[in-house]
Amino acid sequence: MNPRRIPLIAGNWKMHHGGASGLDLALEVAKLSRELRGVEVVVAPPFTVLAAVAQSLEELAEQRGLLVGVAGQNMHFEEKGAFTGEVSAPMLVDAGCRWVILGHSERRQLFGETDELVARKTKAALEHKLHPIVCVGETLEERTAGKTLEVVLRQVRAAMPALISARGAAVIAYEPVWAIGTGKVATPADAQEVHAAIRAELLKEGGDAIATPTRILYGGSVKPDNARALLAQTDIDGALVGGASLDVAQFGGILQAAAALVGGAA
Ligand code: PEP
Repeated sequence: MNPRRIPLIAGNWKMHHGGASGLDLALEVAKLSRELRGVEVVVAPPFTVLAAVAQSLEELAEQRGLLVGVAGQNMHFEEKGAFTGEVSAPMLVDAGCRWVILGHSERRQLFGETDELVARKTKAALEHKLHPIVCVGETLEERTAGKTLEVVLRQVRAAMPALISARGAAVIAYEPVWAIGTGKVATPADAQEVHAAIRAELLKEGGDAIATPTRILYGGSVKPDNARALLAQTDIDGALVGGASLDVAQFGGILQAAAALVGGAA
């Protein structure tokens, strides 16, 4: 972590908690975040419960000053049209989102999303004042072949014009594909090496005004017991959490680990 960047912990619920249980989970997360200072928290529920979660968190924010941002897990780059099953940036904004996860490895691998498509979505999100969380990461095959940086930097470069135009409002999530949902986590040193390379690329292409404020999250089997060591790395500015974000105690443990590093733990 670096004191110039506020740590961000985002929970990606994937295809879980699309109904009343999603509202309950969001409220529990809001309660947890009330105990902490200095950490930004985001939840990404399924589309079916986005508006309800955003509305109840907004009401809580008004009553008690709690702030937990809400993210879509994906979006289309067009504003509207004949795109059955898709959701657009203005629709996410309408539902109360300020964030959107883009290019998650599951979208890239299972739904054929390319670097170009992710870049288009990133640009569209920013045009609608959504903060994109742009996911990048190598497969196990690519890592074994020594291609980690080549792959990750290619993915970052594709979104670079949008990342530069965002001037720090966009977030990058480095998620090695082999670490997602597998229980295998990158070592803090390996993760830091990739994060530093991403920041160096931001510096080369966009200068300090982009490289310094842009937050780079780590994702891939983050749990309370490994969070602190990862988050302590200079270029790791937070975490994108899948499985552990579905469990209040585990997500709370990760939030506590982040807060402890910035002196804001309960
Ligand atoms: C994710 O899906 O973005 C993720 C990091 O999942 P997990 O934490 O379960 O590995």
